[in-house]
Amino acid sequence: MHSIDQVFIDGAFVEPHGTERFELFNPATEAVIGTVRLADADDARRAIAAAKRAFPAWSRTTVQERIALLRRMHDAMAAHEDELLAAVIEEYGAPSARSRWMAQFPAQVFLQAIDALENYAFERRLGSARVIMQPAGVVGLITPWNSDAGFICGKLATALAAGCTAVIKPSEMSALQTSVVMKALHEAGAPAGVYNIVTGRGDVVGAEIVGSPDVRKISFTGSTAVGKGILRAAADDVKRVTLELGGKSPSVILDDADFATAVPMAVMAGFMNSGQACIAGTRLLVPRSRLAEFEAKATDVVNAVVSGDPSKADTEVGPMVSRKQWERVQGYIRKGIEEGAHLLAGGEGRPDGYDRGWLVRPTLFTDVRNDMTIAREEIFGPVLSIIAYDDDEDAIAIANDTAYGLQAYVMSSDSERAARVAARIDAGRVLVNTLTHEPKAPFGGFKQSGLGREYGEFGLEAYLEPKAVLGLAV
Ligand code: NAD
Repeated sequence: MHSIDQVFIDGAFVEPHGTERFELFNPATEAVIGTVRLADADDARRAIAAAKRAFPAWSRTTVQERIALLRRMHDAMAAHEDELLAAVIEEYGAPSARSRWMAQFPAQVFLQAIDALENYAFERRLGSARVIMQPAGVVGLITPWNSDAGFICGKLATALAAGCTAVIKPSEMSALQTSVVMKALHEAGAPAGVYNIVTGRGDVVGAEIVGSPDVRKISFTGSTAVGKGILRAAADDVKRVTLELGGKSPSVILDDADFATAVPMAVMAGFMNSGQACIAGTRLLVPRSRLAEFEAKATDVVNAVVSGDPSKADTEVGPMVSRKQWERVQGYIRKGIEEGAHLLAGGEGRPDGYDRGWLVRPTLFTDVRNDMTIAREEIFGPVLSIIAYDDDEDAIAIANDTAYGLQAYVMSSDSERAARVAARIDAGRVLVNTLTHEPKAPFGGFKQSGLGREYGEFGLEAYLEPKAVLGLAV
């Protein structure tokens, strides 16, 4: 049984002032695997105060000094890869291919931040002005459970690169993974207070950070509903806010696509991270002229996807993170059937051979209209909807007929044609015939998928305030 009893404030592991204990689960077995003692508002205030004390010195460090710390943090995270992998499997249930990536990515983001930093001009001339990019101040970083270490490290690396100091509020459901991150980062030896990690409830610790006048910026990844509340609360003192929220991404299969590659890629885009991905391509937009062919191939591909025990090598879809999330996915599958969508694969309940664990059946619907609930709302599980379209104009209209706009996928054998379609889709990223991430490119959403961008130069600038100094000799 794990017992996580400490938070990280002002360069040290300390007992939290908060006393509430929160249970941690193995989602593949539903067993309680330990508890975490949660921080409270008092702990959040101590963490903010420490970050505030550390800001003047850290904000004046040189680029080389920041790179040195980011490199040590990279090395420390890389050294703990196997420990993180074990925590990701036990606490989150990510299947083998995904869990290895989830254990490696948190180290890589420090190298990506170094790359952005090395190529960034903090000072430039514009007309007669000297424009200086100044660190925003103390930042609050609030992260979800579906890629705990990756989000903590990604936001922290960028904040530190910019010269900000940070208070991190990870998801309370990921405390085991966070404890590995805390241990690793401590070994990197950052100056006290430069970053602080306080795991606690969102409406307690998160709200305290968002409401604090000493915090100048919030970077939040999570649900659209909570993101809207943060934006409202941040208005009180006009905090800078970056929001990475939900999605209902379209995968637009053009009529010239090679189905041998496009169908498995579209299914993978939908089922990545067991479907618990904001960027999951869950609306499959298919030309009516090739609908039957697509349905047949996609049914075969989905039926072959192994959903089950994440410790088994052939498992591709792991359990949902919690009972609540499992019930939510079951509810959407029921709703799809009630609203008249036709089930091609999967359905309610657990995969064959399992009578416990928050496992779901990889599910494929067809005859879905874009106004049905399963086409409009983020399910956050492996449930895909085929929506037929008439021509490219119709496909673009359906792709954009959503409250979201995080990511989209276009599959075609003609990349120029795909580029023309991509240009008209309202989404922060459009992936053409690929599922590969590009860390130099901005990431973030149009519409209710968010505000601002992360990664690369765009991500760095989100932690900086431009200041123009005029009247100096050229
Ligand atoms: P959530 O919004 O419930 O929680 C996210 C974080 O916010 C948690 O740490 C939570 O404790 C905290 N929080 C909750 N209430 C708060 C409040 N009032 N004030 C401050 N903080 C508060 O989301 P979740 O269930 O952890 O994650 C799933 C959601 O995250 C999905 O909607 C998904 O689309 C989204 N997500 C988005 C991205 C992206 O990059 N766009 C990536 C991953 C997940």
